[in-house]
Amino acid sequence: MHNEPICGIDLGTTNSCLALLRDGTPEPLCMEEGSAIVPSIVSRDDATGRIIVGREALNRFAAFPHHTVRSIKRLMGKETTVFLGEQGYSPEEISSFILKYLVTKGGEAIGREIRRVVITVPAYFNDAQRRATIKAGELAGLEVVRIINEPTAASLLYENVEDEDAGDEAASPYILVYDLGGGTFDVSILEIKGEIKEVLASCGDSALGGDDFDERLIAFFLRQIREQYGHDFSDDGDRALHTRLKAIAEQTKITLSDAPFARISEVAVTVVNGEPVNLDLELTRKEYEEMIADLVEQTVVKVNEALKEAHLECDDIGRIVLVGGSSRTPLVQERLEQLFERTVSFSIDPDLCVALGACVQHGLIVGEPLGHILIDVTAHSLGVKTSDSFDPESGDADFFSTIIRRNTAIPTRKAELYYSNVDNQKMVKVEVFQGESESCKENSCIGSFPYSLKPAPAGSPVITEFAYDKEGLIHITLEQKGFDNRKEVTLDIRSNRLIDPEEAAGEEKIVNYMVSKGRKLAARSDTPQKLRDELSALLDEYVAALGEGNEASIDSLEERLLELMDEIEEGAGDE
Ligand code: AMP
Repeated sequence: MHNEPICGIDLGTTNSCLALLRDGTPEPLCMEEGSAIVPSIVSRDDATGRIIVGREALNRFAAFPHHTVRSIKRLMGKETTVFLGEQGYSPEEISSFILKYLVTKGGEAIGREIRRVVITVPAYFNDAQRRATIKAGELAGLEVVRIINEPTAASLLYENVEDEDAGDEAASPYILVYDLGGGTFDVSILEIKGEIKEVLASCGDSALGGDDFDERLIAFFLRQIREQYGHDFSDDGDRALHTRLKAIAEQTKITLSDAPFARISEVAVTVVNGEPVNLDLELTRKEYEEMIADLVEQTVVKVNEALKEAHLECDDIGRIVLVGGSSRTPLVQERLEQLFERTVSFSIDPDLCVALGACVQHGLIVGEPLGHILIDVTAHSLGVKTSDSFDPESGDADFFSTIIRRNTAIPTRKAELYYSNVDNQKMVKVEVFQGESESCKENSCIGSFPYSLKPAPAGSPVITEFAYDKEGLIHITLEQKGFDNRKEVTLDIRSNRLIDPEEAAGEEKIVNYMVSKGRKLAARSDTPQKLRDELSALLDEYVAALGEGNEASIDSLEERLLELMDEIEEGAGDE
């Protein structure tokens, strides 16, 4: 009888995670500051002999580097001793501390002792490394029900996900798992033959991951410091500075995954001649992507190697599963999309899917009925119309620029940067579309509204952020950089309705923003009669064009209307 907690553990190089089966559904267990991700770091307090694991150990790293160890997974299966201060431990023992910490915290959360677990290992782990992992489990007082490959766990999870869009993908038995973590990269191709999943190919680089992205940023910060303060810290061996810059780099990197630029404003990262050294700069995603492009390219080379090893072409692959925190990097998704010529995104948190899959595996072993895992994802890509490409025949700007990709788990928040086209541009018409085509004409428009710009030379940047919540609302925020010019609008995606808090104080209104706003302006007594008449006439014409569905005149009328409304609002007619 199993009647015991069903538990899966992702014992990772950088981070670990524990998942439990609850009512037939695997769930990650939040343990530290609401996060399910526990740093795989162990430290020993020499004074008390206490073993410290996770975030607390991470915090001790800078102050007690000789008492603290990270990335112990790299040493698994090796006959070696790791010293935490005076005390020596085998890699299995260190790993057992992490496992013990996870199951103790997990047991406390559910009020039951966790005794049996499924643990994952990389597909390339050899026998000695696998045995060492089992030993670590035993040292933690656990029965290791099974050791499974990380890509297999991830693919198992996706098989149990209710995913309407998987149609074509599910038809192919080949799954590619792209796993880019903090310190390692693995790509595996699996074939599903009924219940059996065979790893056809597994390639990777055990010294490539998000840490390398951080190092590129650190080098960039050090160059900035050298230019500004005339001191080169790169060979200083200043550990405290490196630790601080690493934390800043990681935060910057994570910000750039969701936003088009990051502002870095840090005081006193170190001192030069008794003076504090501050970091104050802005970095765009584009600049960051140039720094890491070659690293991402190395992973693409490995993907091609894996395909070759499995004797498959890109088109043969069904599902592409993204695993590991660094696979959130937009450039990674972009490069994979170019390679596979389709949208590539993750619908399950890439940090958690290995642990969740291990938990599913445990459930299958003990015959626990598994429910479908329901996840809330965006069914279509969401974005705006931009003028990046013109149709020379019609002169139309019709380029669809994606902000939130299809199949992204919600809630989510993403931002992009767009630029004004002409000097002193008065307004932009923000048109929101959903769909997968590069051309807006082939996607569906879910709303549009005007955004007034402050006078600025052409190329004035506007940050456009989409925050998609669980209720199906997209909260759109526009902000012209460098100006006090912010606008917030909410779109209800289920009804394609625009809710503009400024105009309607939360009251829902139809997409036809122009008419209601126009009528209000036309009724304003502080507006000269001539302009009011002109506006009323334009509005009538506009409504008629809407009724006829005459796209060309709707567009040109909208433009004239917006200009006129702008003029009235700015009080330009007060002569
Ligand atoms: P893992 O080893 O799978 O836990 O992945 C950890 C790595 O993912 C670290 O290098 C993190 O800095 C990185 N990471 C986590 N979140 C993000 C994000 N949103 N964008 C880019 N990298 C991330």
